[in-house]
Amino acid sequence: NREWHLLSRPVGWPKTEDFALVEAEVRQPGEGQVLVRNKYLSVDPYMRGRMSDAKSYLPPFELGKAMQGGAVGEVIESNAEGIAPGDHVLHFGGWREYATFDAKQAVKVDADAAPLSTYLGVLGMTGLTAYAGLLRTASFKEGDSVFVSGAAGAVGSQVGQIAKLKGASRVIGSAGSDEKVKLLVEEYGFDAAFNYKTGKVSDLLREAAPDGVDVYFDNVGGDHLEAAIGSLNVGGRIAVCGMISVYNNTEPAPGPRNLARLIQTRGRIEGFLVGDQYDLQPAFVAEVAPWVASGALKYRETVTEGVENTLDAFLGVLRGDNIGKAVVKL
Ligand code: NDP
Repeated sequence: NREWHLLSRPVGWPKTEDFALVEAEVRQPGEGQVLVRNKYLSVDPYMRGRMSDAKSYLPPFELGKAMQGGAVGEVIESNAEGIAPGDHVLHFGGWREYATFDAKQAVKVDADAAPLSTYLGVLGMTGLTAYAGLLRTASFKEGDSVFVSGAAGAVGSQVGQIAKLKGASRVIGSAGSDEKVKLLVEEYGFDAAFNYKTGKVSDLLREAAPDGVDVYFDNVGGDHLEAAIGSLNVGGRIAVCGMISVYNNTEPAPGPRNLARLIQTRGRIEGFLVGDQYDLQPAFVAEVAPWVASGALKYRETVTEGVENTLDAFLGVLRGDNIGKAVVKL
């Protein structure tokens, strides 16, 4: 049984020396507990935040202990009512091969209803993030034009497609490669997309959204946020989901210089956390699962094999190597 430990808190970009893959004993489950063999581990941008010791909505990873994260695995042993060996569960004991924990901390998932990895992505945390952020935080309504950054990623690709399926007048995405831009337009049905590395984001956005944007779903922060404020229409809403462009900064990034535009547009900018949005989970599954099953909503996954490659898969997400949800298959 191998598990990943954080050895030191990264400054700037995480380095391999900050981590170690450690051999650890498998703990037998106590009363009310289960032992699970993980099959898929989730690697997510927010994990960078837990590597720092700054106060946040989740406690920092403890140095020298197993890191945590979303995972789906098969129950090997169970001392808990209602969960039997062979069941599959979604839980938080990721970054390791085997995990022992209270059954209360796990949710059963149906391996026959959908591929196991999708419970971490399109039907899981990142899917709910897209759904809640767009529909609740950004108060999306039919006819809105929507701009989403990180648009080829797990959250962003779903934001754009949900907006389209719900009657957006125009959906614009940005991503970091021409291959990703092509995917957005040709496969996901975005009306326009641009590679943010090819010019000034504000110019690229103005060209892609000549009539402005009603909703901006921010996964990136920085220049993207300033550009979106610059293109915001009257009554526009900005949902701040993530700011991946600043996660490895060692100094605070400068803020948008055009916030005064929120006055003339009566614009609203609001952050949200998926953890507060689980009351929407039933509605999310009821609406999105059929779209996924019918192919109306498409998704990709970037699957890395082997627990030993988890760190690289995580760093790949920060670098932009992934298309769609990044997961590790064990
Ligand atoms: P993604 O699958 O979108 O992966 C991250 C992507 O970010 C990369 O593929 C890369 O794509 C892009 N990226 C990396 N660096 C930069 C940069 N400097 N500028 C612009 N883009 C960059 O991850 P998720 O879908 O899981 O997460 C997307 C965002 O949502 C993140 O900011 C994350 O923190 C946030 N999030 C927030 C939640 C909440 O509750 N508020 C919950 C879940 C996620 P590219 O090639 O396009 O650069």
